[in-house]
Amino acid sequence: MRKRLAAVSPLVGLGNFRALHVQALVPTSGRRRIVEEYNVGANQGAIRGSCLCGTVRYVVTGHLTRALYCHCSMCRKAHGTAFRARAAVSAADFRWTGGEDAITWFESSPGNFRGFCRNCGSPLLSRLKSDPTVYGLPLGALDDAPDVTPCMHVHVASKAPWFEITDDLRQFAERPV
Ligand SMILES: [Zn+2]
Ligand SMILES: [Zn+2]
Repeated sequence: MRKRLAAVSPLVGLGNFRALHVQALVPTSGRRRIVEEYNVGANQGAIRGSCLCGTVRYVVTGHLTRALYCHCSMCRKAHGTAFRARAAVSAADFRWTGGEDAITWFESSPGNFRGFCRNCGSPLLSRLKSDPTVYGLPLGALDDAPDVTPCMHVHVASKAPWFEITDDLRQFAERPV
């Protein structure tokens, strides 16, 4: 974990964010150092994400919204998991910082494009042709702590039969408008 964070950090070029981030690397011990790195990202409103192989990287400079768990069959297959944890991000607040040309966009339903790293398969971003101002951001690829946590389960009618929802979050059979 420490090694991965250290490897990713020099790739972020955000002026003050970078300066503060480097400052946070002044030797402190283990866990405390990692917490400081996370806090710097959150305090600056900038969080980073990357794919499994590290080729594709991005930074979000604004707030995430509409965080939820989606249990639809397309999300389950795209992520290979029981559900997809995702948030919305304004396109103006999102920027690729490396490897954008390694992304393949798959149109999973008309006008809905899911971007993943063609080298390692990590799901990284989704976008709707009908609304280019907002992206869907899978939370699993984030390297820093986001400022939101999922607040509902959607498409529960399509939930995997082998998975049981045990939290108290609201559940919707499909997706509320
Ligand atoms: Zn990758
Ligand atoms: Zn879904």
